[in-house]
Amino acid sequence: MIMLDVESIRKDFPILGHTVYDKPLIYFDNAATTQKPRSVVEKIETGYYNVNANIHRGVHFLSQAATEAHENARKEVQRFLHAHSPAEIIFTRGTTEAINLVASSFSDACMQPGDEVIISEMEHHSNIVPWQIQAARTGIAIKVIPVTEKGELCMDRYKELFSERTKLVSATHISNVLGTINPVEEIIGIAHQHQVPVLIDGAQAVPHVKVDVQALDADFYVFSGHKVYGPTGIGVLYGKEKWLDKLPPYQGGGEMIATVTFEKTTFNELPFKFEAGTPDYIGSTALAEALRYVENIGIGNIAAYEDGLMRYAAEKLNTIEGVRIFGQSKEKGSVLSFLIDHIHHYDMGMLLDRLGIAVRTGHHCAQPLMNVLGIEGTVRISFSFYNTKKEIDTFITSVERVRTML
Ligand code: PLP
Repeated sequence: MIMLDVESIRKDFPILGHTVYDKPLIYFDNAATTQKPRSVVEKIETGYYNVNANIHRGVHFLSQAATEAHENARKEVQRFLHAHSPAEIIFTRGTTEAINLVASSFSDACMQPGDEVIISEMEHHSNIVPWQIQAARTGIAIKVIPVTEKGELCMDRYKELFSERTKLVSATHISNVLGTINPVEEIIGIAHQHQVPVLIDGAQAVPHVKVDVQALDADFYVFSGHKVYGPTGIGVLYGKEKWLDKLPPYQGGGEMIATVTFEKTTFNELPFKFEAGTPDYIGSTALAEALRYVENIGIGNIAAYEDGLMRYAAEKLNTIEGVRIFGQSKEKGSVLSFLIDHIHHYDMGMLLDRLGIAVRTGHHCAQPLMNVLGIEGTVRISFSFYNTKKEIDTFITSVERVRTML
C-alpha cells in the first residue's frame, strides 16, 4: 500500500478534527461528497473579499480580474482533463445538470422519435431520469446494458444493443454503488465502430483515477466539483467541439447570446453558448484550486492509496459473519456496499452514526440497480486519501458491535 503523509493531509481538512456525539468523526461518505481543504475554502473567501464583480464585458478593473480568474479556471480544468481547448469546457451546476444539458440538447438536435440511447443498469438516477424525460417529450427509446453477477457490465450484451437507431451511449465511469471501474475505453471504442458518440459520467472517477478525455476519445465527459474536494454548485461538461457546435443552447438568457432583437437571437460562441446567466465565477476558481490540491498529492498516489484502503476494508468486512459485499469487479474504486444478515441498512447506518461513523444507507440514487440486485438498499462506505486503516479498524469493531446488538 502506498504511503501518503496522511497526518499532514488531514490538517488541511479542519472538519476531520471534529467530534460527533463525543466520538472522533470518521467520515466514510466521500462518494456522496468530499470534505474541503483549507485552500479551497480560502479561495472562496478571498474571491468574495478581493475579486468579486460580475464577469465578462465589464470594463472596470474588478470585473476584468474576476473574468480572468474564471477563464483561467476553465483553462485549469481543460489541462486537468487534457481537453483540446478551453472552449470544450462548460461550467454547469454539477454532473446532474451536465447530463440534463446533453440529454436535452442532443436529443433535440441529433435524435428522431424511435432513435435509441444506450445506458446501463448501474447508472445513477441522474443518468437515467434525464433520458426518460426526453423519451416522454420526444419519443426516443432507452436500451439498458445488463450487469453481471460480479457487478461488471455485460460487454457481449452491450455489443448486441446497437442498432441503426442507436444515437448515443451514456454510461458511468465508476459505479457509485458497486465501485466497478468500467472499461470506458472499450465502451467508447465499440460505440465509435458504430459511429455513435459516448457520454461518460465521471462523478465518481475524477476524484479517484486519472482522466484524459483525448486518450479515452470521450465525446462528452461530466463531473461534479463537490466530489473532488471543490465547492458545491459547480461542475463540468466536457464536450468535443464538433459535438458542442452541433447542439442548441440548453437555457436562454444573458451571456449566451451574440445579438438579440425581438425577431431573432443569435448565439454566442463556445463555451458561452451553454452558460446562460451569471456563472459561479467564485466556484470555478475554487474548483481549480481543488484540482491543484489533488494534483499536488498525485492522482496516481490517490488511486493506489484508496485502493489499499478499499481492499483492507473488504478483507476485514469479509471476516464478519453474514456479510454480503455487492460488487466484486476486478477493477474497483474506493466504494464498498454491503449488508449484514437481516440487519436493515438504516439501522446499521443510524447506530454507526451514534459511534461517530458517517456512512451512507439506502438506494444511493440507483433504484433500478437495487431492483436488479433484489434488495432495497445497502450500507455504503467510500474512502478518500484522508482516511486511514485505523479508522477502518474502528469501523469494523463498530460494525461487529452493532451486529451483536441487533
Ligand atoms: N453520477 C454518479 C455516478 C454519482 O455518484 C452522482 C452523485 O452521487 C451523480 C451522478 C450526481 O452528482 P451531482 O448530484 O453532484 O450532480
